[in-house]
Amino acid sequence: MNMENRADAVVIGGGIIGSMAALYLLRSGRAVKIIEREHVAAGASAGNAGILAFPEIVPIPAPGVTFKAPGWLMDPLGPLAIRPAYAPKLAPWFWNFTRASTRRYFERSLGVQKALMKLSVEEYEKLRVEPSLSPFIDNTGTLDLYDSATTFKAAAEDWAHKKAAGFEFHRVGRAEIEELQPGLAPEFQHAIYSEAGLQVNDPAAFTQAVAALAEQEGATILKGEATALEAMENGARIRLADGTTIEAATVVVACGAWSKRLAASLGERVLLDTERGYNTTLPAAAFDIRRQLYFNDHSFVVTPLKDRIRVGGAVEFGGLELKPNFKRSDALMKLATRFLPGLKAEGGEQWMGFRPSMPDCLPVIDRSKKAPAVLYAFGHGHLGLTQSAATGRIVAELAGNTPPSTDLANLRFDRF
Ligand SMILES: Cc1cc2nc3c(=O)[nH]c(=O)nc-3n(C[C@H](O)[C@H](O)[C@H](O)COP(=O)(O)OP(=O)(O)OC[C@H]3O[C@@H](n4cnc5c(N)ncnc54)[C@H](O)[C@@H]3O)c2cc1C
Repeated sequence: MNMENRADAVVIGGGIIGSMAALYLLRSGRAVKIIEREHVAAGASAGNAGILAFPEIVPIPAPGVTFKAPGWLMDPLGPLAIRPAYAPKLAPWFWNFTRASTRRYFERSLGVQKALMKLSVEEYEKLRVEPSLSPFIDNTGTLDLYDSATTFKAAAEDWAHKKAAGFEFHRVGRAEIEELQPGLAPEFQHAIYSEAGLQVNDPAAFTQAVAALAEQEGATILKGEATALEAMENGARIRLADGTTIEAATVVVACGAWSKRLAASLGERVLLDTERGYNTTLPAAAFDIRRQLYFNDHSFVVTPLKDRIRVGGAVEFGGLELKPNFKRSDALMKLATRFLPGLKAEGGEQWMGFRPSMPDCLPVIDRSKKAPAVLYAFGHGHLGLTQSAATGRIVAELAGNTPPSTDLANLRFDRF
């Protein structure tokens, strides 16, 4: 790679978080370079379900969740799996996940998510009118489906939190379910409909469009793999795999699930792991999907993309090195064809992505202690697309030494 070795702001990672960080830094007056080892949207940002899930303020580590986990784990193709070879490495993460599910921690995380989502809504409202981004955002509405009256009732507390946060939705029975999404299996008698639900209709192309917008406004995208960071008096030095270095006044680490290696090179430990997720993308003709369908009791979604349908979700702990187990995509497809009996399952493309996840399912948005020019922006778990614009705004605020729009005390990299 041939690059000048001085820069103003460098963002490492060209996923949705890095691309948004670059755009917001640029718009705050910085000169920006993005360094990406593969291509823009090479990671989780390419194959996600595309849901702008603003109402998802209720943290996954909630009181009682650890009692449910053994049941999920017993089912080899259920919503949660741990690859046996990886289990020993997961212990510290899982222990802290358990800690994060205590009532006190949960209430605190709920407050953090509420504030982050408020900011996320505000920022996406602005981005939705950008001519190059608006074609990617559809208002499809979201149908949250429950298998039974019992599970529907059990979700009441979650919906009460969402209502208290100002999100609007209403309960629907079978007749309205059928109207909103014809062809669902008859067992679905209980659902919640959120008319405002927004869908990114091509997550990979959207991420590329955000990066292209940054490029159009002056950013440079360079191919390269960052291997280490070093503190400097007025900035930080990035070491690249090809042996070159680049020095910058501000460095943003936005490498998704791979971010902790760069933090470690500064001597900073982050308890980041990955929740691997699977999906299958089908041709549009597979089913007439009218809106986002969330099968709450099975932790998977069926979403309508621009010219395709995506069936995916679930969580597998297996680190960054083990090969995908596409039986998990098959299992989700099996459920999808049961719940949408007319779904044509042929011609699908399977994919696995690495959600970057902290034990409390909150992101890291923080400044390095060892190298104050380095900002961390990763760990958004299931919500990275949704919270990307808000993260971009906060990164630009931190870089400009202006007070952040939300309290970052609970998003520190070293909170575990
Ligand atoms: C199945 C699934 C469904 C999902 N659905 C949704 C959804 O509906 N809504 C939602 O909001 N979120 C969803 N998510 C989560 C969302 O996709 C992630 O939170 C988000 O994409 C993370 O973005 P990122 O930029 O941090 O990471 P990534 O997209 O993984 O990007 C990181 C980038 O950094 C690059 N990189 C890594 N290391 C280096 C290095 N050393 N040097 C240079 N480059 C490097 C990688 O090549 C990659 O391009 C889903 C995730 C999965 C897996």
